[in-house]
Amino acid sequence: MEVVTLGTGSPIPDASRAGAATLVRAGNATLLIDCGRAVVMRLVAAGVFPPMLTQLLITHLHSDHINNFNDVLTTRWIMSPVDNPLPVIGPPGTAAFVDQTIAMLKDDIHYRLEHHNDLNWNPSCTTQEITSGVAWEAEGVRVTAAPTDHRPVSPSIGFRIEADGAVVAIAGDTIPCAGLDEICAGADIYVQTVLRPELIKAVPSPRLQDVLDYHSTCAQAGATAARAGVKTLVLTHLVPAPAPGTESEWIAEAASEFAGEIIVAEDLQSIST
Ligand SMILES: [Zn+2]
Ligand SMILES: [Zn+2]
Repeated sequence: MEVVTLGTGSPIPDASRAGAATLVRAGNATLLIDCGRAVVMRLVAAGVFPPMLTQLLITHLHSDHINNFNDVLTTRWIMSPVDNPLPVIGPPGTAAFVDQTIAMLKDDIHYRLEHHNDLNWNPSCTTQEITSGVAWEAEGVRVTAAPTDHRPVSPSIGFRIEADGAVVAIAGDTIPCAGLDEICAGADIYVQTVLRPELIKAVPSPRLQDVLDYHSTCAQAGATAARAGVKTLVLTHLVPAPAPGTESEWIAEAASEFAGEIIVAEDLQSIST
């Protein structure tokens, strides 16, 4: 399996880090997990046009993880030569989000259907909501979901992707919890969104302090990785984005709890099992 960290940024805009999104090539499937800022540009850089996606998996409905869903859906629709519904798996609330996005696009859908004679179907999704258990199994791949803990944002889920005897865990935003341990157990690659509290506390913004208690720190990600027997820990969704040359500080914090390989992800970094 191959993991490509498409977007490693957070809600704080950064010129070199796109929003939350990860690509996983597994078996015969091309899976996109979350679809934050600039996801379609990063997908194309990784060699994937939206019509080529096998599944979109959504961890939770925070805007930084879904704010470019519209672009994925619309580009898939207008680039596909035949009707090509986008399969979406996410927590409860995902179907309403999908329907509301399609409703928001009403005028654009109308313009394009009127304009193009060979386009005579609407953009659409096949949406499945899940909180735990096997979400999808096909193409030599099994995707399992488990509840994570990103409260007060709820529900949130993480994904365990298994193919070719390997395991990739995509956690999303969460603090350590039983569901996270479940998806990470024995994983070859564990991708965790993280923050560094001491850097956030130094920023004089009360609103920013609110994010401290519902994300994993690097040390917590390391502890989860150690407990689960993970091989490689990938840190992403870096809050705040590391200043150049400070990546080793993020690694050191995670390494205080975990002796395996630790990667501070850049956009479009490829990591294989
Ligand atoms: Zn979130
Ligand atoms: Zn987030």
